[in-house]
This record gives sequence, C-alpha cells and structure tokens, in this order.
Amino acid sequence: MSPIPDIAPPLLSWYQQSARSLPWRDHPDPYAVWVSEIMLQQTRVEAVKSYFERFLQQLPTITHLANVDEQTLLKLWEGLGYYSRARNLQKTAQTVVQEYSGQLPASFEALKTLPGIGDYTAGAIASIAFQLPVPAVDGNVLRVMTRLTADPRDISKSAVKKDYFEQIQAILQPLPRSGDFNQALMDLGATICLPNGLPKCEECPVASLCQAFAQDRMLDFPVKPDKKARKIEMHTVFLLRNHDRVALRKRADSGLLAGLWEFPHVEGQLSRKKVEEQLQLWGIRASQIEKSVSHHHIFSHIEWRMNSFLVTCEEIVSSLPLVWVSQKELLQTYPLPAAFQPFVSDTLWQEKPV
Ligand code: SF4
Repeated sequence: MSPIPDIAPPLLSWYQQSARSLPWRDHPDPYAVWVSEIMLQQTRVEAVKSYFERFLQQLPTITHLANVDEQTLLKLWEGLGYYSRARNLQKTAQTVVQEYSGQLPASFEALKTLPGIGDYTAGAIASIAFQLPVPAVDGNVLRVMTRLTADPRDISKSAVKKDYFEQIQAILQPLPRSGDFNQALMDLGATICLPNGLPKCEECPVASLCQAFAQDRMLDFPVKPDKKARKIEMHTVFLLRNHDRVALRKRADSGLLAGLWEFPHVEGQLSRKKVEEQLQLWGIRASQIEKSVSHHHIFSHIEWRMNSFLVTCEEIVSSLPLVWVSQKELLQTYPLPAAFQPFVSDTLWQEKPV
C-alpha cells in the first residue's frame, strides 16, 4: 500500500511550524513566485535570496521585465549562471504583456505554453500564487516520494514522474492548501530529506509512513541512471590591461554563456613562449607578461581548467574585437560569468592613466 495518500496532515502541520522564511513567500504574487522558481532552478536558496530582492527592486513588474535592455538583465543575473533562464524570463514577460495584459494566466495549461515554464514551474505558480490543485514535482519531490515508497524505478523515466504527479494530484483535489502542501514538500526535500548524505529522518514529520526509513535503506533511493563523466577542457586566459582599462570580449550569441562578456582566452595551457606568439598573432604589443592565477570552473557537463597571464599592453590595438573597460564599468555594466570572476582583482587596474 502506498503511504502517499496519508502524508498531507502531518506534512501540513509540520509546515505550519517549520516553514522556511523566504523573501518570495512574504508576497506570493504570481510574478514573484515565477521569478523565484526560475532562479531556484540549479541555484541554492541562500544564493538566490539577494538576487531575488535586487531583481524585484529593479524590475518590479512583468512590464518592467519585458522592456529592460538585455545587458541590464544579464547584469542582474550575473553569477547565477544558466543565463538562458534570464532570456526566457524576458521572452515570457513579453508574451505575457502582449497576450495576457501583463498578468500571468491563472491556469496550469496556459502557464505551460510559455517559454521556460515547464510542468514543475507551472505547478508551483498555479498552486502557490493561484491555489490551484496542481502538483509541482521536481528532483527534490521525487527523492522524497521514492524514499517514502522505497521505489526501485529509475526517476529519469517520464512515466515515474507522471505517476507521482497523479498520486499527488489525487491528494490535492480535495485539499484547500495546495500551495502550502507543495511548499511543505519542497522544504522537506531541502532541509530534512537531504540529497547528499544521510537524511534527518529523526526530524521528519512523515517518518512513520516512510518505507525506506522502515527498511533502513534511505540512501538506496532515488534510483538514478549512471552519470556521464564531465568533459575537461584546458584554457589560457589573457588578462590584458592598459593603464586603467582591461580588455573584454563578447561571447557568441548562441551556445555556452551566450552573449556574455569574458576575458579573451584560447584552448590549451600555453607556455610563456606560446603566449607571446598568441599575442603577436592578435597584433598586441606587450611591455610585460606575468603568469597569474589558475582557476577551474564546473559547468553541468564540462569543466574548464584555466591558467592566466597578466599582460600589460603598450596600446589598445589588436585584431580582436575587444572593449577596454574601467573597473567601474566592469562592475556596473558588463555581465561577466562566474567562470571569470576569480580573475577580477584590484591589481588588474593597478596602473593609473598617464
Ligand atoms: Fe526522507 Fe527519512 Fe523522511 Fe523518509 S523518513 S521521507 S527518508 S527524511
């Protein structure tokens, strides 16, 4: 017998006592719920809080989001990663302004037709902002569900997700607090039924119903397919500076980190001699070349291992399409992905204009 039909009462009373205090929960209007859910995809709650508040301050309505210029939007998103989320937010905002008079539709089906809004996000908005009886099933919820039921099925299969969607929907149909129920499951997955390491079963409100706990097999679930190994790429980063400016290059409009700014770099870990040759190829005259910091950055499917060279340039001439920016401009205007942030330090700008 599945324990799922019985989880609502203990879960909701636990939520009443223990709900996390989160900025978007103070004003659960559809726009705030939507922005927070998109930010929370792939990003930790603690990291999202300050981004969320700044975003809503600068873009308080869907119309503001629809009209903001892309560079300002990406700058607001700088450091959150997965920048296509920001672009999809804006695309959706423009659709909502054109087709729904600037208000997100109060319908699970209509929400799902909007760019970047899948079943989970549509379920979260529909239930939290509109109190519609719709589940919001993501990886956290699947972890809780498969542990509750000691389910040996592979959670990457869409049939498994669909099954839990239907089981939760059956609970929500007669329940007046669907938003609270979904948020309680989210909180349980984030704070008690943890993804890494042992879950805190002794604090869990549904422990008496949990089959994995009864069998002491909590870490056997969820069952996932084997992960592919990440591809490793070596890069050499050029920190080109000329007095109070450093050089940035715009990335291509598609692919990884599309449309963002970066320090110029090439594949491979170049020796100092090769660095000199590369600079010559770019038509850059250097008065000084120093080896600088190394850093690695992990994307979902790829890892960059980066060495860098600090190059003092005699002039700002090169065959590369570069912009030369001041410290203030880099801070305020140019969105620089997290992969390149560790190369930013005051010493980049230590030379003053002559
Ligand atoms: Fe997760 Fe443990 Fe609660 Fe089961 S008892 S749902 S494994 S925290």
